[in-house]
Amino acid sequence: AELRPEGAEAITITVGNFKGGVTKTTTALTLAQGLSLRGHKVLVIDCDPQGSLTTLFGLLPDSEVSMDETVLPLFSGEQTEIAYAIRPTYWDGIDLVAAASFLFSAEFILPAKQSKDSNFEFWNVLNFGIDRARLEYDVIVIDTPPALSYTTINALMASDGIIMPLPPSALDFASSAQFWDLFSDLTNQLIRNRGGKKEFAFIDILLAKVEASDISSSFVREWIAAAYTDKVLPVEIPKTAAASTASAEFGTVYDSAPENASTRTFKRAFEAYDRFVELIESQVRTFWRR
Ligand code: ADP
Ligand code: MG
Repeated sequence: AELRPEGAEAITITVGNFKGGVTKTTTALTLAQGLSLRGHKVLVIDCDPQGSLTTLFGLLPDSEVSMDETVLPLFSGEQTEIAYAIRPTYWDGIDLVAAASFLFSAEFILPAKQSKDSNFEFWNVLNFGIDRARLEYDVIVIDTPPALSYTTINALMASDGIIMPLPPSALDFASSAQFWDLFSDLTNQLIRNRGGKKEFAFIDILLAKVEASDISSSFVREWIAAAYTDKVLPVEIPKTAAASTASAEFGTVYDSAPENASTRTFKRAFEAYDRFVELIESQVRTFWRR
């Protein structure tokens, strides 16, 4: 396979949506594993105080993750480079920056720093904090909380690509628009104030938890296609017990492949996820060639 060319930096990809339960965390981990299986060295950063991604890596956020092992010291200014918080995981080729509930204090620390120092750029802390990591990894994947938070803004501003998982339900579709507006308006505003311009290499919508037989979801899929047009990835992740059981057992379709390979629903979920990873990898290659 074609890997990151010499001199090209890591691509940073945020998985986000203001809604909970839309498979952000599952998508982030599956993407990390799929890219790692294709030969890329991946750093995963958990920016959600709930620490779901950290949990999927087999760590208990509030007992096995200390304050100084998360992104928090970056936000508080105690650290300037993320290296201090990087740990290896059970998955060869994926390193992790973990999260735990105290990460929520970033929501107070960042605005407080901003009000004391008008030159401080609260939205660029993570962006600058991964500068050196960009030279050591091929891909950096960031999982975000289901909220418009200072942490989410930092993740978006640090990112080259965005993936928004979106189940085809009317409520999820409605709330997805808010997230969409955030990175098209707010990110550009923040940058424009300083004379720069933020351009994403890609913004993708991933249809997730799709129930093939559900009539109402097929209507919503049409709305999504009309609203987001070519941003919608040409793949649908099926809603399957196989995928949800996988994460309940601290893993993804890639973790449970050998045992389940023979069941039909598992095979469908596996193939959809693997196709998704393939599509992202091709966008990553385009980014590296730019
Ligand atoms: P988020 O990070 O957006 O809150 P999660 O990744 O935690 O979402 O997923 C929410 C729930 O949906 C979890 O219980 C997860 O196991 C389940 N899930 C993830 N992917 C699928 C799928 N393809 N089919 C069915 N359930 C899924
Ligand atoms: Mg999550």
